[in-house]
Amino acid sequence: MLKFWKKKPADNGTGEHEETAQPAPAPVAAPETPLALDTPDPAPAAVAPAADEPAAAEPAAEATAKRGWRERLSGSTFARGLSSLFRRHPKLDDNLLDELETTLITADVGIEASTSLVEDLRKRMHKREFADADALLQALRQELIALLKPVQKPLSIDGHKPFVVLTVGINGVGKTTTIGKLARRWREEKRQVLLAAGDTFRAAAVEQLKTWGERNQVPVISQGQDADAASVIFDALQAARSRHADVLIADTAGRLHTQGGLMDELGKIARVLKKLDDQAPHEVLMVIDGTTGQNAVNQVRQFRQIVGVTGLVVTKLDGTAKGGVVFALAREFGLPIRFVGLGETAADLRVFDADAYVDGLLPADFARA
Ligand code: GDP
Ligand code: GDP
Ligand code: MG
Repeated sequence: MLKFWKKKPADNGTGEHEETAQPAPAPVAAPETPLALDTPDPAPAAVAPAADEPAAAEPAAEATAKRGWRERLSGSTFARGLSSLFRRHPKLDDNLLDELETTLITADVGIEASTSLVEDLRKRMHKREFADADALLQALRQELIALLKPVQKPLSIDGHKPFVVLTVGINGVGKTTTIGKLARRWREEKRQVLLAAGDTFRAAAVEQLKTWGERNQVPVISQGQDADAASVIFDALQAARSRHADVLIADTAGRLHTQGGLMDELGKIARVLKKLDDQAPHEVLMVIDGTTGQNAVNQVRQFRQIVGVTGLVVTKLDGTAKGGVVFALAREFGLPIRFVGLGETAADLRVFDADAYVDGLLPADFARA
């Protein structure tokens, strides 16, 4: 039985496309199509001005980019804790190291990682490697960068067409927002992007994805609320293939009636995708909220048991996030950190860069400032 065909009528053309700035003709729903296709393939001229950022997302000059990371990360518990520590305690001694350990743990770096970092620095201090507290700070920066370098592995979507990204993670971490940002990024790279509204559990989830799709002229495949997520994503992959799309990004629910239900659903999605492409999904991107602290480590552990997570996105690192969780994740799993979310607009999703991240948390010159 093809329960696949039983679905709500296409709900497009109902005033969702009234954005006057959009020069593209209003999308026309093909009534016989079983898919709720929200946006036609993007017309070349149909770049609607997004409310949130200028088209050229990444600033050219490295200095500007660095400032961007610093501005976003300077409010974190990590940055503020360390800057206040080195200001209060400019003298190089064991007390400074004890306090440093506490500060790192407070910023969610994790007990193991914090202890091992500090013990290493302590040995070097006793060998008189550091002339002063500033030299220690520089050594700490180098060690933090070294901890993150192995997970700085940007996502390449060139190996498959369509390249299938399955987005997973618990509710509210920023999955849908991240998908919107990725859609924007890849569209700007002139890739043809398709989105699958696989979070069929929450009423607002499909609408939220459609809004991102409309804003960026990226089509969204959906079947309405309570549809079978595996079926939506299966359809979307078929559509992506027939349109020769470069990349398909699938949203999923972060919560079902039971944890087991969620995990079964994710497993089923992965199985169904393999019917069309035995290597799909090519990336299982797990989204983590950077403000959740050590709990993030448990989340990754759980999801990894169900779906083979291949990359991480850590969101909400702007504001007062502790920032240290990125180090804890790097040390615990060694999974690539593909992107970090430094704010709510499309330009705030940055390709993860170990140097820029550490520089944002711990500017080289801040002890002297
Ligand atoms: P989902 O349930 O995992 O799909 O999460 P959503 O994408 O709906 O995001 C939940 C909330 O987090 C929304 O209010 C987003 O605007 C916000 N959010 C997502 N990423 C970021 C980020 O990098 N920084 C900030 N400040 N907010 C974010
Ligand atoms: P199972 O739950 O692990 O047995 O997975 P199934 O193979 O039954 O597929 C789960 C869902 O994916 C189905 O309910 C369909 O909606 C969808 N699906 C699977 N195979 C196909 C297919 O060949 N065509 C379409 N259109 N949908 C499919
Ligand atoms: Mg969502």
